[in-house]
Amino acid sequence: MDEPLPEALERVLFTAAAIRERVAELGRQICIDYAPPARELTVVAVLNGSILFLADLIRQLPLPLRVDFVGASSYGSGTASAGAVTLTRGIHLDLAGRDVLLIDDILDTGLTLHALGREIARAHPGSLRTCVLLDKPARRRVPIQADYVGFTIPDTFVVGYGLDYQERYRNLPYIAVLRPPAGAAGPITLPPAPA
Ligand code: 5GP
Ligand code: MG
Repeated sequence: MDEPLPEALERVLFTAAAIRERVAELGRQICIDYAPPARELTVVAVLNGSILFLADLIRQLPLPLRVDFVGASSYGSGTASAGAVTLTRGIHLDLAGRDVLLIDDILDTGLTLHALGREIARAHPGSLRTCVLLDKPARRRVPIQADYVGFTIPDTFVVGYGLDYQERYRNLPYIAVLRPPAGAAGPITLPPAPA
C-alpha cells in the first residue's frame, strides 16, 4: 500500500487487488450458475454498504440483468442487535417468477439477510440466491448461509470498500480492521453500525 493507513485503522485485511481478483472469481461462478439459456437476473443490493461491491460485481456479469436496491436498518442496543430489522426502502421491481440475486456487503448476525429473504419470498420470485462480499460466521444469530461468499473473516469490525463506521471510510479501495478506541483493553468488537 503506497498511501499510509489512516490512524483509525489497524491493518488492511484485503487489498484492492485481492478484492478485484475475488470479485472476478465470484462473477465467473455466478455466470456459470446462471449460464445460458440465461433468464434475466434481478439483482437486489442492500443499501448502503454494498454499492461498491455491486458496481464491481455486475461488471463481471455479462448476463441480462436488472438492478434494484433495498434499504434495511437494524436497531441495536449495546453490542448486540435487538433483532428487529426495518425496511427503509422497498424493492421497486417486480420479482414474481424472477431469478433474484440478493447482494449485501457483509453477513454478520444474519438478521438482515433473513428478514430481506422473507420479504423477497413474499413477492414469489422464481429463485432466490444471496451473495455477500464478507461473511463473519462467529456472530451468527440465525442459521443462514449465503450462496456466494467473497471472504470469510474473523469477529472484527471492518471498514472500507463500501463498509462504514459512522458513515465514514466507505470510499477506501481496500478493507481494513478498525482500530479499537484508545484505552480499550485488547481487541474489541464494535457493534454493527445501523445499516
Ligand atoms: P447482520 O444483520 O447480518 O448482523 O448485519 C449486517 C449488516 O451489519 C451489514 O450490512 C453491515 O451494515 C453491518 N455490519 C456487520 N458487521 C460489520 C462490520 O464488520 N463492519 C461494518 N462496517 N458493518 C458491519
Ligand atoms: Mg449494510
